[in-house]
Amino acid sequence: MFCPKCKKLMLPDKGSKQWVCRACGAKVKMSGGGDMVPHSEPKHREITVISEKPATNPTAKEECPKCGNDTAYWVLRQTRGADEPETRIFECTKCGNKWREYQ
Ligand SMILES: [Zn+2]
Ligand SMILES: [Zn+2]
Repeated sequence: MFCPKCKKLMLPDKGSKQWVCRACGAKVKMSGGGDMVPHSEPKHREITVISEKPATNPTAKEECPKCGNDTAYWVLRQTRGADEPETRIFECTKCGNKWREYQ
């Protein structure tokens, strides 16, 4: 990091998280690089994008027991017990009601 004013080498001041120029006294806020570990701001944004991904579950002709809508998304859920069959979870495309069906 070099001083933007006098181009001399700046020294990190970890207490205030700033680069300090010993020649002219200029201070620059630390961001990203240097020997400071930056906070995981980009990672957080990545997670947000994933959670905002629209549901791409397949749909089935299944009547919602709550509102009577005849289309529902479905996903297969493997139950914990080894002898248990897979469970089909339905989610109403209209009201979001969820229910399960054993195959
Ligand atoms: Zn300087
Ligand atoms: Zn419904």
